Amino acid sequence: MNTDTIPHSRLTLGQEEIAAVSRVLATGQIAQGDEVAVFEREFSDMVGVKYAAAVSSGTTALHLSLLALGVGAGDEVIIPSYVCTALLNAVHHSGATPVIADIDPNTLNIDSIDVEKRITKRTKALIVPHMFGLVADMGRFASLGLPVIEDCAQAVGARRNGKLTGTFGQISIFSFYATKMMACGEGGLVVSDSQELIERIRENREYDNRNTYSVRYNYKMTDFQAAMGRQQLRKLPAFIARRREIATFYNQAFGKLNVKCPLIEKGHIYYRYIIKVEQGVEQWLGQMLANGVSCARPIFKPLHHYIGPNDCPNTDSIYEHALSIPIFPSLSEKEIKIVISALKQTYNRLKPN
Ligand SMILES: *Cc1c(COP(=O)(O)O)cnc(C)c1O
Repeated sequence: MNTDTIPHSRLTLGQEEIAAVSRVLATGQIAQGDEVAVFEREFSDMVGVKYAAAVSSGTTALHLSLLALGVGAGDEVIIPSYVCTALLNAVHHSGATPVIADIDPNTLNIDSIDVEKRITKRTKALIVPHMFGLVADMGRFASLGLPVIEDCAQAVGARRNGKLTGTFGQISIFSFYATKMMACGEGGLVVSDSQELIERIRENREYDNRNTYSVRYNYKMTDFQAAMGRQQLRKLPAFIARRREIATFYNQAFGKLNVKCPLIEKGHIYYRYIIKVEQGVEQWLGQMLANGVSCARPIFKPLHHYIGPNDCPNTDSIYEHALSIPIFPSLSEKEIKIVISALKQTYNRLKPN
């Protein structure tokens, strides 16, 4: 990639994170300790839930959440097709069978009507991710009568009808991977108002100093990750405000083109800015890069393309036509102009005569 190329995503990291991590390193207490405990408390205060447990990643947060709900071999868990393989892995780690559902082509979130069709006697839970920063219609999922794991990996700070993510599920998970809204390098967190569920997460995330043996995991977060997370949490409101500002520029610039922009929703945090184009997305990726802008397919490959079934037509169509363009807090005014002009050029070039 040319060094002038605008990347698809870029971390926002300052002296505050460097100082916080250095301070922890200097104490010599670097594994899970006080800093993790403080991060858990600050995070659950921000979300407005009673309990939180930090873990090593979003994937391990999902795995332990499934175990906490009693999901295991012989059970089925419904997940969307249009999502990263982390969900598929977590369900397999638990021993349960994943059941893949289609998405709503407008919101890109898992489709509740399709979910309902795939419920069987063995269905034990649903995992509902808020994709790309837009909160799913959680009321619909709650009405299905199954435990819901709310996956907020792409939607920390997003709202629906004023209500924050992390407050909708029986149990809710977050990810702090390097390219997420808030980054700790790697990291995850589980929140719930159920003390019992969070106790089970704590039981399983570490193995040492136990009177009785059962299979446990080493899924802990370190104190230096937590120190970084605390600083990123402070910056989250500014990150979200800037992303919304950039999304507004894009909405205005692309309004007259025949591309479909993300839904305009008050609580959207625009973790990704996804447009739907007429032509195949492969051509768009190449042309945008030739114009100095690195874009991506929002999802590398839909889950049903790996393991079936073949009946997720909305996901297939979105996979062919959805393009994710750069949006991140440190995108400069100049870079925004370059993205807009690259997109207009690509549009004119690829548009049918
Ligand atoms: C990134 C992501 C995960 C997994 O998080 P990791 O920290 O990378 O394990 C889970 N669900 C969704 C929706 C994600 O975007």
